[in-house]
Amino acid sequence: MRYNYDFEIASWMIMTVILLHFLFIRQFPSSKARIFAILLAACIAESMFNILSCVGLANTTLVPEWVNEALAFAFFVFEGLTSYLIFRYFMVVCGLSSRETRIMHLIGGIPCILFSVMVIATPFIGFFYYFEDGSYYQGFGAPFGYFYVAFYFFLDGAMLFVRRSVVDLRTKIIMVIYASAAIGMIVIQYHVRGLLLTSVSNALVVLMIYLSMQNPREMIDSASGIGNESAFQLQLAHVLSQKDAVHVITIRFARTERIHAALGIGNSNELLHQVGLFLLHLCGTGHVFRIENDTFSVLVPAHESREMQQRIKERFAQEWEVGENRVVMYMDLVIQHYPEDFGTIPEFFGMKQFLLEQAKTAGSSAVVEMDEALAERYCRRTKVETAMLGAIRERSFEVYYQPIYSVREKSIVSLEALVRLNDAELGYIPPEEFIALAERDGNIVHIGEQVLEEVCRFLAKHVLSNASLGIRSVQVNISMVQCLRKNLSETILPVLKRYHIPPSMITLEITENVAVSTPELLQRHMRELADWGIAFAMDDYGSGNANCSYLIQFPFKEIKIDKEIVWASFRNPTAKMVLENEIRIIHGLGLPLVVEGIEEKEQSDVMERLGVEYIQGYYYGKPMPAAECLRHIRQCNVMPENYAK
Ligand code: C2E
Ligand code: CA
Ligand code: CA
Repeated sequence: MRYNYDFEIASWMIMTVILLHFLFIRQFPSSKARIFAILLAACIAESMFNILSCVGLANTTLVPEWVNEALAFAFFVFEGLTSYLIFRYFMVVCGLSSRETRIMHLIGGIPCILFSVMVIATPFIGFFYYFEDGSYYQGFGAPFGYFYVAFYFFLDGAMLFVRRSVVDLRTKIIMVIYASAAIGMIVIQYHVRGLLLTSVSNALVVLMIYLSMQNPREMIDSASGIGNESAFQLQLAHVLSQKDAVHVITIRFARTERIHAALGIGNSNELLHQVGLFLLHLCGTGHVFRIENDTFSVLVPAHESREMQQRIKERFAQEWEVGENRVVMYMDLVIQHYPEDFGTIPEFFGMKQFLLEQAKTAGSSAVVEMDEALAERYCRRTKVETAMLGAIRERSFEVYYQPIYSVREKSIVSLEALVRLNDAELGYIPPEEFIALAERDGNIVHIGEQVLEEVCRFLAKHVLSNASLGIRSVQVNISMVQCLRKNLSETILPVLKRYHIPPSMITLEITENVAVSTPELLQRHMRELADWGIAFAMDDYGSGNANCSYLIQFPFKEIKIDKEIVWASFRNPTAKMVLENEIRIIHGLGLPLVVEGIEEKEQSDVMERLGVEYIQGYYYGKPMPAAECLRHIRQCNVMPENYAK
């Protein structure tokens, strides 16, 4: 019989063009790209042997029988392989766990082995085909070939169905087109004997896959020429699907702004390129990534990790030569271990952030490797974060109030609102622990809003209608993140209005770093809120720069001296002198003072002698729940001798 192989030639040409384009573009070396390249090569080989077979069979006078037999054999080898490789491709895109991968390898591997055995046996037993008088005939096992293809269809379809939530739409469409094309081809071929369409469905599927593959340039960092964060995530997902122990070494460069400013953009990019090349040579393509501006991550087999770290440290201890410049790059190194430390991509990134923070506090050129103690701290932090998020959702933060005592009036005249978080599992969580986390992810805005609302409710219920209590205002802490928002007044004024609270009853406490980092924005907020009657106090004065220019520049109502300074002044004469000087300067500017951390009568007496106007500390009352604080104020403001208890 003569075969019409026109469609085979067209399919072969299409697939060859795809292969050339694929090689020319250079895909990022992911497991998906690798399996696709093998599949494409196998499809091209299958199609080529099919065409050559047809040519050979049409010219039996010229082509010896053994050549035709060899061509048929080669065709069957690749035919068996392509269905299996398409299945392997779908396995990768389905993102199976390592256990599922093992199971699928077993289920998908058995028919492929069986098919291969039958192909090898065919020249002897005529299973798929046999030759007689130089002509080709289908063997008794030919239908097995259809079952074989159908089996993989079924398996691919089942796998995609089970993993439908993680598989993207494009892949699902590919599967549907592949299945309908293959069935269509079989039906046509059945009716039009001699028309060969074997490679048409293969060509369709590889074309669809290729068109759906990401643009490799989206995976490359243009400055350093290595993989970017998307490429890293892709590769990390691959690592997570395997059992092999891998270490992720993350390198974060310090003082990069200064280097960039000194070198200029061109040279900075050249420097990054050199760093990328060095790491690439050390760890190999597909293992080095620039995941943030100043952060690189490399994936290394666990047993090579120590040596790699050593070589990275040695190289970065030396200078880099860029144009005419020589630069030393300072860096922190953090190391995470798979599978011991993390099992998912978010877990990896959360932990990396934590380790980089530890490295930052450890000082310049720190090496931080995940260990048991760090893992415990990280675990605590994750729990605190969860507790905090839960409290935000359920609005279950409490607000405690700490009295502020007026030396002149000899009574408690205001309160500081302090947020409290009690968790069922962790118990009391100090604000210092969760506020830092809330500031990092912006959740402090929600906490601040809930605290203010609670303070307004408290004022409306207990203070507004109770002038005899003697409380004039409540001080509310405002974090830097809240101050950085453009609409600070819009988050505060509506709450006061809702509870009919005169704005003069609220004082916002901010720390010096707000003034340092965003002076213009702070000026605007202060002016806007001052117009409504809301005052500002500077908190923790002396813990930072203690730069008195901010006291002149901004209209603060009062200054709160940091308790560490106050405590130091009781221990150390120099600190005492510093405190006295600060008090003199602040008084010189005409501003009243609050000192914090006063725990004993003697300390309070010293502060009175220094002319401090207001005192806050355990001696005048610890932070207390609203009801207890009200009782305390009534008791103390009526009988001042109670302070001494
Ligand atoms: P802060 O604003 O400096 O608040 C004063 C802290 O000193 C409070 O700690 C208070 O309990 C403590 N304190 C006051 N007097 C004494 C004393 O005599 N001895 C000792 N040992 N400590 C004293 P707390 O409540 O743990 O709060 C810590 C920090 O958390 C606060 O420092 C503030 O920066 C932050 N914070 C608390 N509540 C809020 C809030 O609602 N919003 C924001 N943004 N920050 C808050
Ligand atoms: Ca405060
Ligand atoms: Ca303070």
